[in-house]
Amino acid sequence: MRIGLFVKENKLSNEYVNGVIDKIKSHNHVFDNENPQYVLSLGGDGTFLQAVHKYLDILDQVIFICVNKGNLGYFSDFLDEDLDDVLSNLDNYVVNRYRLLSASANGETIYAVNEIRIENPFHTLKSEVFINNEYLESFRGNGLVVSTALGSTAYNKSLGGAIVDLSLEIMQMSEIAPINNCMFESLKSSLVLPDSAVIKFKGDFANVVIGYDYLVKKDYKSNEIEFRLSDKKVALLNKKDHSNTRKLNKSFIERR
Ligand code: NAP
Ligand code: MN
Repeated sequence: MRIGLFVKENKLSNEYVNGVIDKIKSHNHVFDNENPQYVLSLGGDGTFLQAVHKYLDILDQVIFICVNKGNLGYFSDFLDEDLDDVLSNLDNYVVNRYRLLSASANGETIYAVNEIRIENPFHTLKSEVFINNEYLESFRGNGLVVSTALGSTAYNKSLGGAIVDLSLEIMQMSEIAPINNCMFESLKSSLVLPDSAVIKFKGDFANVVIGYDYLVKKDYKSNEIEFRLSDKKVALLNKKDHSNTRKLNKSFIERR
């Protein structure tokens, strides 16, 4: 197999990284960062998010293997000690595929694994919200977040959104600090929508920041933005006995 490797800059020693490259070769794989079939993401969830964005154009050809290097590692089933077994028995593992979220404006589309956010850091964000072109509400507050099932345990969770089972293809809209008084009213609850839904925000977006995963877009020119679940999918290697419930327990309940 052609196997690439992704690490965040200056996070891991050259010695360690070279050791992993040697390991890839010693299991008769080809080390290939240009056109890989598998990518070892060494770090945490943030590392994986960066790796996905690096390979966005060839995402349908790549399977990500997340090795946790002392981070939360919600996406990761593997530690260093698993590497030999993974590299010698890739078929002994399962591949799960998850749809990315997309947001389009002015003919440009951005993609996210976790979520896409619209925030106004200077003034109250005012945005009308439409679901499938039907008017829902006029939101006022700090921002709105649309997340995937995979991203439901990230920013969405901090906002009180629901954790969503990973087998469900949904989008979830959550509010950041909504203003609710006798003048303004918004849903206040997170809204979960099916994969066919289109969420549209409309407003004066001159000063907004669009955040997507770890990335940001400023000087946003459009007054409209549309969210859909994308046909682009990210493939993750998991252990055969991977359990989402155990992952939730290990990540959010059990003390380390
Ligand atoms: P970061 O500040 O390191 O991420 C914050 C934490 O979220 C880290 O512990 C990260 O795990 C974890 N994480 C990322 N994706 C997750 C997921 N799908 N489920 C559970 N935990 C997850 O920044 P980053 O590593 O570049 O990640 C960017 C993400 O941070 C964004 O997509 C957003 O969801 C999240 N974020 C959250 C808040 C908030 O909760 N208030 C604010 C800004 C951004 P690792 O330690 O393994 O990296
Ligand atoms: Mn991180």
